[in-house]
Amino acid sequence: MRLTVLGSSASYAGPGQACAGHLVQSGSTSVLLDCGNGVIANLGRVMEPGDLDAVFITHGHLDHFADLYTLQALLRYAPGGPSGRLDLALAPGLIERILAPLSSRGKDEFLEAFQVVDLVAGHTMEVGGLAVTPALVDHADPTFALLVEDGPIRLCYTADTKLGDRVMAVAAGANLLLAEATLPQEYAGQAPHMTASQAGTLAYQAGALQLVLTHLWPTNDRESAQCEATAAFGSHVHVATEFDVFDIGPQ
Ligand SMILES: [Zn+2]
Ligand SMILES: [Zn+2]
Repeated sequence: MRLTVLGSSASYAGPGQACAGHLVQSGSTSVLLDCGNGVIANLGRVMEPGDLDAVFITHGHLDHFADLYTLQALLRYAPGGPSGRLDLALAPGLIERILAPLSSRGKDEFLEAFQVVDLVAGHTMEVGGLAVTPALVDHADPTFALLVEDGPIRLCYTADTKLGDRVMAVAAGANLLLAEATLPQEYAGQAPHMTASQAGTLAYQAGALQLVLTHLWPTNDRESAQCEATAAFGSHVHVATEFDVFDIGPQ
């Protein structure tokens, strides 16, 4: 299973970066986990976006879904004509909000581009060789962490969440834990997000083999985040940068 970072920024995109977006691939299967501002431009440098097999949106914050409009236009104006509907799995209730700013024709075009289904906690969705299982975490209501399994290999993407039992359960035993680390230390506890140190604690307590931090504000000091997470995890931690690639296998 291969993870490619397309967007590592939280809330707004830093220079040359993008908001939340992570590509997971195995064999000929490609799934996109979140689709924040700027993700589709970066995805186009890695693969043909129209060849995606499914898109998963963890929750209804703009930095996780804003580029769905970009993806819809790309699919509609493909040189070979509109592609078939792309599977789009969303937090329940989000489709109404996504459609709200669109004209009635725009709404129709959006629903022509995507086959929309709701995420259901604990309900595994098979996409090619990958199995994706959503789990509720503690952030905006509802927000889903995503467990992506390729046979015995497990990638856990925390989405946005504070540290707690829910994210701990879904992260357990991950080969790679892709954890949000939004908050600088001085903001700890002030929002339903984690600090880098808490992401390290999560990885340690969950028994994860590898930790990658993502969803950092562009102004965060990434070196400090890396040091704080490494101290809590007890092993080397990587801070995600756009186009980083991680090949995840048994370790
Ligand atoms: Zn976010
Ligand atoms: Zn959020």
